Amino acid sequence: MALKRTNYIMMLLVLITVTTNYLAVYSLHRMETLVLVYITTLALVISLFVILLHQQVQELLAKLNTASSSNVPYSTLPGPLADIMLVEVLNSLPECVFIIDCHSQVIYHNEDAYRVFGIQKGQIFTEETANQDSPFEKNQLTGMRQAIINGRQCQDQQTLYINGETKTYLHRVNPIYKSGHIQGAVVYSSDITTLIKSRKDAQAANMAKNQFLANISHELRTPLIGILGAVELLERNAVYGFETENIRIINDCGEQLLEIINKILSVSMMEMGIAECRPVECNIRNVLEQILRSVYPALNEKGLSIGIHIDPDLPDYVAVDHDKLQQILLNIIFNAVKFTQKGGIQCQLDYTPGSASSWITISISDTGIGIPEDQLGKIFSPFTQVDNSASRSYPGTGLGLYLCKELVELMNGELWIESKPHQGSTFYIKLPVEEIIAQPRPESKTGNPRYNMVDNLLLGFTPVNILVVDDNQLTQRIVCQILQKYGFQAAAAGNGVECLEMLQNSNYDLILMDMQMPLMDGYETTTKIRSQHNYSSLPVIAITANSTSDAREKCMNCGCSAYIPKPFKAEELIDEINRCLNDIPARSDTTADNDIICNLIPEFLDSLCESIHELDEAVKSNNIQEVKSISHDIKGSAGLYGFHEISSTAARIEQAAGKNEPHDISNSFSQLWDLYKKLGA
Ligand code: ADP
Repeated sequence: MALKRTNYIMMLLVLITVTTNYLAVYSLHRMETLVLVYITTLALVISLFVILLHQQVQELLAKLNTASSSNVPYSTLPGPLADIMLVEVLNSLPECVFIIDCHSQVIYHNEDAYRVFGIQKGQIFTEETANQDSPFEKNQLTGMRQAIINGRQCQDQQTLYINGETKTYLHRVNPIYKSGHIQGAVVYSSDITTLIKSRKDAQAANMAKNQFLANISHELRTPLIGILGAVELLERNAVYGFETENIRIINDCGEQLLEIINKILSVSMMEMGIAECRPVECNIRNVLEQILRSVYPALNEKGLSIGIHIDPDLPDYVAVDHDKLQQILLNIIFNAVKFTQKGGIQCQLDYTPGSASSWITISISDTGIGIPEDQLGKIFSPFTQVDNSASRSYPGTGLGLYLCKELVELMNGELWIESKPHQGSTFYIKLPVEEIIAQPRPESKTGNPRYNMVDNLLLGFTPVNILVVDDNQLTQRIVCQILQKYGFQAAAAGNGVECLEMLQNSNYDLILMDMQMPLMDGYETTTKIRSQHNYSSLPVIAITANSTSDAREKCMNCGCSAYIPKPFKAEELIDEINRCLNDIPARSDTTADNDIICNLIPEFLDSLCESIHELDEAVKSNNIQEVKSISHDIKGSAGLYGFHEISSTAARIEQAAGKNEPHDISNSFSQLWDLYKKLGA
């Protein structure tokens, strides 16, 4: 507007100047003046034109600016200018772009589409001529046609050999509509070679990281198992209170460290994709009860209550991955205890039978600190904690729930949470299971039938002779000591070759076989043992730091009778040995070894004396938990030493304590006391 006003003023000025000059010339009739007047007039006219031109250019630029900021559709630009701009834009895209009409004929392509794929205007893509006049494969051409017919976007990836290089392209087909009718499709083809390479590199780096973590975790576990084993032995022999206290601290720290290492190992195996779901026959009631038993001490210490309800319709045995279920429940139940200060924990198991598959839903509720809503989605991510401040009150790695979620998904189940801050949380685990119609089982026996004492408890006692085969001398020493403490006779071999030699010279009732050893590994040794007729039923328990189900299968395939993954606790090892020994026939040369009897029995009697006095105290003070725990210990150790009557009497006390029946407890305790006195201890 300002410019236009200036124009009028300028024009007026020109007119006034021209008129004045003309009048001046007319009146003066001087040649110089005339020339001067004409020059001035001309200069004014030129200025006017420059101003007008400037105005036009400004208007045009303003229009272009508005169009480029998308406020004005490009169609409002002058036709040729819009076309030029569109072509420029399409050619500058880092993608090949072409447009086909409804008959799959190319009606437009940018420069890259021609340069890379040789696409030309007028070219028709038909499935019959796939790979001939264009690099597209039949399924891609079908995709383009389908996109036009169905009006739906589609995309596909293709690896091509272009100009001496292997490239991967991502083709995206977008249908084009006009007035609601499909006009054709625009195809964008992007070179994603670098992207794919970066992804592969990242995956390889992640794989290497996980492999490293898995290896290092294995390496860390081996010495740690030694430490924990040694601590367990020390604890048994500790005399003074401060010793016991310090040993307990070492043990607790070691257990925590082991748990962290195990979590890291599980996560790395999961991320490497080598974890798999292995359903086995499982009694879920037992799994739950065992876990809840292991949290009793922590619950007691905090004064928390615990409630458990198991659907009575739950079959005794179902097929489910026992180890993974245990790992999931352990983590969630331990968390519930950790994050709850008052109130308690409720555990409920519902069973939903189905024709295709049956389901169990386990819910674990607590009355703890709860989780804010905005954090609920995050807690299943690795290394995530609601409070991750340096001053946080709850220790942890933030790996547990991530692992649980991964494990549940691997088992084709679901894991979710409901939570309210300061009110509590409920975790739900839903898993498919398969019902197993169980065969009636014989009652499990404690101890070895060969050790049944009749009149004199010491007569006929033949210690089980176990050969420990392990190249790690520390492990050898610890395991041998554990075995000796439990009343077994133990010898050690450093590898498979030594093991076979020792078998030629002595009789062994059982072999504990490390599977990774130099010279001859456990797999080859076990296969060789099995190939000898007289050792076909000799129990061989495989011990390996590799806890995958594949490792277990490999051990069982080469003839091992059982398998214990490292790390194991002394009780776990002894349980497994007991299980294996209960299945074998008695050895023919059951000669009593008086030396060993002399060595072992006094020590056992000492500890039995101590336990029985503690039990006496607990019975008198009606401390049911203590009664249960001490009688449980006596049951196990007496069974191992072959004192079966003592063992079964202690089992009755444990049972009575479980049912809180003081009368039965004191009856059975009198019997136990009599048996103990009969020993002459
Ligand atoms: P962590 O080793 O830290 O316990 P988890 O992965 O098991 O790792 O849990 C991640 C986080 O989820 C915890 O740090 C805690 O903030 C939160 N969380 C888990 N369980 C509970 C619960 N029962 N109550 C409150 N918060 C919980």
